[in-house]
Amino acid sequence: MTCKSEGVAAAVRAAAAVVAEHRAELVELDRAIGDGDHGENLNRGFTAVVAALDAAEPDTPGGVLKLVATTLISKVGGAAGPLYGTAFLRASAKLGTTAELDVPALLDALRAGLEGVQARGKAVEGDATMVDALIPALSAAEKAAEDGGDVAAVLTAAADAADRGAESTVELVPRKGRASYLGERAVGHMDPGARSSALLLRAFAGAAR
Ligand code: ADP
Ligand code: MG
Ligand code: MG
Repeated sequence: MTCKSEGVAAAVRAAAAVVAEHRAELVELDRAIGDGDHGENLNRGFTAVVAALDAAEPDTPGGVLKLVATTLISKVGGAAGPLYGTAFLRASAKLGTTAELDVPALLDALRAGLEGVQARGKAVEGDATMVDALIPALSAAEKAAEDGGDVAAVLTAAADAADRGAESTVELVPRKGRASYLGERAVGHMDPGARSSALLLRAFAGAAR
């Protein structure tokens, strides 16, 4: 991809396709420890994002991410809509009017996104939420950048770490969101939001190649 606005929009479209493909899986994960709507929520949101991009594609990476944010906030209820919405909004604000998403800008956007999720949801590592995918993803992205990785390599490292982070939630007792109502009974189940975060990062990494 080019890391200009068209490339970022293509990555968002790829993410929407991955969400649609994994809708049932995310519903199943959320059915086990929540209310079973996570896949539906995200699919509705990303379908609306694609429609918004089709109607008018913004001409900066930050503009694309802002459109994602405002669409997710308005179309996705529950916990995940505002959390992902805030992540994309903070990332877009960080990018400002930058025309091209290079590695330093990508790291800034990832950091801002994670900060947004934590500011909004107050979850820390180990609470069995999407934060358990996103924190290791950011660390791995930073390390890949230090090692000289390009945008695709940085996103691939982030996605690999997010997969492991999502896997780690299986053993955790949830302390935030609906799953926390189950306490110990939620152990043995992967957090749906951690899984969706890993899927989004994998889609972005694939689009960047
Ligand atoms: P709801 O739980 O309102 O139905 P979703 O099912 O769409 O919303 O999203 C659930 C996901 O949201 C969880 O799997 C978890 O990853 C994430 N989540 C919930 N609360 C928080 C929080 N306070 N901080 C971070 N992530 C959270
Ligand atoms: Mg739910
Ligand atoms: Mg719900």
